[in-house]
Formats: sequence, structure tokens, C-alpha cells
Amino acid sequence: MLNTLRTIVQEVSAASDLQAALDIIVQKVREAMRTEVCSVYLFDSENSTYTLMATEGLNKTAIGVAKLSQSEGLIGQVGQREEPINLEEAASHPKFHYIRETGEEKFHAFLGVPIIHHRMILGVLVVQQQERRRFDEHEEAFLVTMSAQLAGVIAHAEATGSLHVTSISPSSITKTARFQGSPGATGVSIGEAVVLAPAADLSVVPDRDYKDLDKELVALDKALEAVREDMRSTAAKLAGRLPEEERALFDVYLRMLDDNALGQEIRSRIHEGHWAPGALRQVIQEHVQNFELMDDAYLRERAVDVKDLGRRVLASLQQDEQDNIEYPDNTVLVSEELTASMLADVPHNKLAGLVSVRGSSNSHAAILARALGIPTVMGVVELPYHKLTGKPMIVDGNLGIAYVSPSKELLEHYQVVVEEEQEFTKGLEAISDLACVTPDHFRVPLWVNTGLMTDTVRSLDRGAEGVGLYRTEVPFMLRERFPSESEQEKIYRQQLEAFAPRPVTMRTLDIGGDKSLSYFPIKEDNPFLGWRGIRVTLDHPEIFLVQVRAMLKASVGLDNLRIMLPMITNVFEVEEALHLIHRAHAEVLSEGLPVMMPPVGVMIEVPAAVYQVRELAKRVDFLSIGSNDLTQYLLAVDRNNPRVAGLYHSFHPAVLQALQKVVDDSHREGKTIGICGEMAGDPVAAVILMAMGFDMLSMSATNLLKVKWALRKITMARAKEILAEVIKLDNAMVIRSSLELALCRDGLGKVLGIKSKRFKSSQETGE
Ligand code: PEP
Ligand code: MG
Repeated sequence: MLNTLRTIVQEVSAASDLQAALDIIVQKVREAMRTEVCSVYLFDSENSTYTLMATEGLNKTAIGVAKLSQSEGLIGQVGQREEPINLEEAASHPKFHYIRETGEEKFHAFLGVPIIHHRMILGVLVVQQQERRRFDEHEEAFLVTMSAQLAGVIAHAEATGSLHVTSISPSSITKTARFQGSPGATGVSIGEAVVLAPAADLSVVPDRDYKDLDKELVALDKALEAVREDMRSTAAKLAGRLPEEERALFDVYLRMLDDNALGQEIRSRIHEGHWAPGALRQVIQEHVQNFELMDDAYLRERAVDVKDLGRRVLASLQQDEQDNIEYPDNTVLVSEELTASMLADVPHNKLAGLVSVRGSSNSHAAILARALGIPTVMGVVELPYHKLTGKPMIVDGNLGIAYVSPSKELLEHYQVVVEEEQEFTKGLEAISDLACVTPDHFRVPLWVNTGLMTDTVRSLDRGAEGVGLYRTEVPFMLRERFPSESEQEKIYRQQLEAFAPRPVTMRTLDIGGDKSLSYFPIKEDNPFLGWRGIRVTLDHPEIFLVQVRAMLKASVGLDNLRIMLPMITNVFEVEEALHLIHRAHAEVLSEGLPVMMPPVGVMIEVPAAVYQVRELAKRVDFLSIGSNDLTQYLLAVDRNNPRVAGLYHSFHPAVLQALQKVVDDSHREGKTIGICGEMAGDPVAAVILMAMGFDMLSMSATNLLKVKWALRKITMARAKEILAEVIKLDNAMVIRSSLELALCRDGLGKVLGIKSKRFKSSQETGE
């Protein structure tokens, strides 16, 4: 049964468009269940009707013609009840509605199951039979499983536009297509899509045309030859060390790469108009699929070899291609998964917007985007990103929507939004040099989070009073190997010098989770609960010591360094890290460098640390809450997973209570407590964080002026009143709206203003 399910899902996934997918579903499910009829009705939410989209067994002339309203017939009933209906005699059910065109009168037994994706009803999958009998429980379970697995495939095909004949086809989106994701970085931009694939990942290579056929063919030949050469030399190196049959595998690979085999197939795809990496992807995927469908386990395994070959050829092709990408002005960078190094590839003045299929607003790519002030939409899971290069796009980072091929009216609408936004930001520049002081004279130090040199300049322009979090992993992510001690020293010196005499808090390397180094891969089933942050560096003291020494040396004569430890879960980690820091300090002193021992602090970002704040505080000089991770770990919601992004709430009462506890316990130990998660950069949150008693708020430079504007307008007394009201509430969403309401009443609606105004107008355009 499992095999049948797997085979059907694979075939459906490989279908060229939605109609082909539906045709395969009805044909294969009818065969597998040995029924007389299998049909799919899809629901169109715009006009609330079900339409028969594919059938085996009913009259095919009824396809696209047979329609039922939302509450009509057994189909409507399955959809409304969101559960299967299994009947021996369909016609005797009170909801039965006979559709003449289908010719279904001779079929008595009926089993319909809903197709549901992300709580939305997409349609109904039905099997019917002449014999009067109830389908047994195995049959029902099979159809339910089938439907659940197909829901994702159908949802994706629908989103690419091929549901409506008159609508958009994925290969030539010519009409506005709207894709919902989640807001990654605020702001709106209009530009042209450039699709980037992660290195050597064949499955995400986009489709693209080319300008010069010969260039593509030459690139392919070069790549094939490079891989063949690589194979020959590996085989030669391993000769004598590998058993005969293993060595034979290299010969098989070489033969597969031969001009008469895969090489020839790829070449003919290129002649059909596909660029070399796209042609390679298509050919490899077809072969992989054929192997995976084979019954013989040994042959199925060969799919892995073909994939591996494909990856090698792609890596070689990409080496050439990367240097030749032309980025248009106003580039909207689109990728299945955005990475820090992709952001760095595009010249900064050309990068207008970012769209990522994976990830959410709390992913590190989004955090970087916010630091750079680039409108970003994350988790656009239905985006047909393969097909988008060269398409005009709008990125609405406030509402989390990406538009492809926008209409003239929509473009005009967004043009106004962009202008409004520029005006608002310009207005804020007037307060750059003013301190962040409330009307009742309470001072709130606003610091920034940095990682790239570009956000350093923006931070200084906006009057940042220090760096609350310098993410040292960012420069590590932009390299192809660990930077040496002197390379690190240079990078850190730039940061420390740029901000001196203001303090700069350098966090020791925080890799793992969704931050990976290409040259130090960490493969784990559960990376956010795995080898992350301090756990990695304590296991690799050589990396930790080099980094701390580089930081210390970089601070000579400036003395504005603070060192911060990420992902601390127990006092032992702090003690070990302190021991290493003291050792590094002694080593640097012994080199004759006059370096002060810097203040050392810990991040509070896991629940265990919340309950040990006092013990931790006794051992360090300062504390800082990482609310991004603290929210993820308290709520058990992966910060990177778009599927659960709706459950990620930093205003959850549990998070607010934890924050208050950490502030109080830190102060009890006489230590300062800051916050450097993204929450601090949200003006609505900043008001209650100030009221909680945080000694410093650290945020991305983009949000600094908005937060300053809000805090300069509200008294500490009023902020405390608001906090006292919301802390009693038990629901994150109610807390957020109560806060927004309170701020609007206090005349601070302007920080929310653009957003709410735009929300209204986008709704009005009906897009
Ligand atoms: C946090 O977790 O809130 C934090 C600031 O660290 P990062 O986002 O880099 O994990
Ligand atoms: Mg963190």
C-alpha cells in the first residue's frame, strides 16, 4: 500500500501542470482501489463553487461543466463537514444532488474525502461504484491518506496559476499573480526578479532562456569535461585502495557522462531553448524519477548516483555562471532559501527587495535584510520561483506579499506607497542626533545589532549609542574557510573603531540552527535543539580561543569591547567559557599587548537560562535577552518554519512574563540587562520593554529612528500603565491589538500609520 501511495504521489508531483496532475490522480487512484469511478472536484473560493476537474468513469464531457455550490450535493457536504462521507446508496442521502451531465445515476456506492491544505478546503476526491456497498475502512483510510498527500501538490499547482484556463500559466505569468508569505523586513520595493540557486542544489535550479546557444553548449562541455577529469583523477588516486566493484562505479559514471548518454540528452534540451543548468536539472530529474519508481531496491538506489553526478556537473557550471550574472538596477533577489552570502553577492546599490520560499521573519536571512533595510518577504511557499527571472515584481515587506507581473493599477498604487514611505523616513531623520528621552525625562539607550559593514554606517548615521549585538558569524558565513586570527582581528577592529568610544558587544560564534558555514557543515535531524552556539565553540576551543584573541587584539587602545556568549543553558558553560577567555587574555598580554579584560555577558535565550538568571548573573558582567530564540524555545515554534509562523508570537503572555522575570532577577544581582532580539526594534514592543525596566534596547539600524520617535512621545508613567494592563491578558493577539490601540489613543499611531493605511488600500485594490 505504501509503495502504491509513494508511486502515485511521485508521478503526480512530476506532472507538468495542474490538469495533468489531476488526470494522473483519478486514473491511478481508480486503478489502485479497483473502483469504477474516481473524480476530483476543486473548490474555487472566489465564487464558492466546486467544479468537476478530472474524472475516470463519469462522462468526460462533464469536466469543467458540472458545478455545485458550496453547500450543494454530497460534494458540498464533504467540504462543509471537512470529513469523509461513505455511503452504500448515494441517492438516498438527503443532500444528494443529481448532475445529469456526469451520467452518475448508475453508481450507488459513494466515498468522498475532503482535500485540505493549511486548514483550507481545496476540493473533494471521490470514488464511486455500481455495487451497493459501503467502502471498507482500509479503502477509506487509503483515500484519506492519498488526499492528505496530494493536497500540498494541488495547492502548489493552483498557486502557480494553472487552475483557471483563462488565468496564468506558470511559464508565462502575464497577469498579476499574488503570493502570500510573511513579512521579513518592512518596506515596499518594485523591481525585476533575479533567481539565485543555492550552490550545487539541482532541485532548485530555475528555468531560464539564454541569449547565446554556443555559449551554453561550450559551458556544458567544459563542465562535463571538468567532472570527467575529476573522476579520472579520483579513480586513479583510489586505485589499489578500493575493491574492484567500487572502482567499477567510476567507469559507470564516466560512461553516463559520455557525449552519447546524459551529455547528449542535456545538449538536445539546450537546443530546445533551455539554459545549460535548467537542461541539466530536467534530464537528471527524469532519470532520478525513473530509477526511484523501480521495484528493485538496488536499481532504486542508483537514483542517488545520478543525483550525485548532476550535482557535480552543476557545481562546475555554477562556477562559471556566478561571475556572469548581470544584476539589473532594482534587483529583486528570489531564492528557495536566501543566505547571507547571496545578499553579499549583489552590489548593495542594486538590491531592491528579497523573496524567499523558505524561512520566516525570524530567520537569519530576514534579520540581515532588516539590518540592511531591504524590503523582504519570507516563506512564500507557493512561489513558482523557477520561472521568475526577468519578471517585474513588487515586494510588500509590510504585509508579506510578493506580486509577479503586477498590473498597471497595482504598480501605480505601490508607487504611491513607496513615496509615502520615503517621506516618513525622511521626516524621522530630523531626530537622528537627538537622545532617546521620554517626555518625563527617562533616558533609554538605543543600541544596534550589526553584522555587515554596511549596517555599521547606517547605524552611526542614525545616532546609535553602542552595539548590543555584533553577530560575528556573519563574516564567517561570507567566506570559504574559517578566517584566520589576523583576518578576524582586522574585521573586528573595523567594528570597534567605527563605534569607539561607544561600546561594541561582540558575540562569540553562534553557528548551528539555520546558520551554517559551507565549509563546516552540521547535519542534524533537529538542528535548533542540537549543536548550536556555545556548544560548538566549547567543543572546539581552538576556534573559540582564536576568535577571542582576535577580539582582544582588535580592541587595543580602544577598550570598547564587550564579549557575549550565545545559547547558554547552564552555569558550567559560562565557567568554561570564562576560563578560556581569561586564558586568551593572558596569552595576548604575554605577547606584550596592553589589553584590558573586557566585560563578559551572557545571552538569555533558552527557558533554562530564564530560571537561572541569578546564578548566571553572579558570574558575568551583563546579560542580554535574545528574544528571537527565547520565543522559539518557550513556545516550541521553529522560528524558521513558515508552516508554524502564525504561532510565533513575542507578545505571548509566557514570553512577556519571562522577560519581566529576567529583568527583575538581573537587577536583583545588580547587573544590567538589555534585549537584542528583533522585538526591541518593534516600536509597539519597545514601549512595554522600556516599562519593564530594560537598561538598553538593541535593534537593527532600520528600526532605530521609529523606536526613538515613539519613546520620545510617551511618558514612562504611561508606558507602565499600559504594561500593567496588558500583562494581565492571556492572549498574544489581544495583547498586540490592545497595545496598538493604546498607542493610537496616545497619538503614536503614526508608527503604525503607514502599515494600516496601506493595508486598507491594498484591500481596496482587490488584488
Ligand atoms: C536572538 O535569538 O534573539 C538573537 C538576538 O540571536 P540570533 O537571532 O542571532 O539567534
Ligand atoms: Mg539567538
